[in-house]
Amino acid sequence: MVWIFLTWLEHPGSDFQEHCTPLYREFVRVIPMQVKIDRKECTSCGSCWDTCPGLFEENKNDSFSQIIEHYRIHGSIAEGIPAPEFEDCAAEASDSCPVQIIEITE
Ligand code: SF4
Repeated sequence: MVWIFLTWLEHPGSDFQEHCTPLYREFVRVIPMQVKIDRKECTSCGSCWDTCPGLFEENKNDSFSQIIEHYRIHGSIAEGIPAPEFEDCAAEASDSCPVQIIEITE
């Protein structure tokens, strides 16, 4: 798949690109989105848990944002893999975070 992608990049606009784009899209689709919060910089504004309450919540001890338990990676309150239905709002929360500390990796 990596070879196909690299070849596709080298031949923009070619028939090869046209034929491989659906394969590439399928390849990308199976890589889950990951979300990471740099919690030490959080201002507790609440924007992320208002925008995407299925994925983010306020930590009751320090009032900073955290990932809802069900979606955490290895139990980390700062990292998670959202369900597909929360990917759009996760991206929206990242965009609207006033201190830009929600990192999205796809
Ligand atoms: S939007 Fe950003 S600053 Fe506001 S609570 Fe969420 S992570 Fe913290």
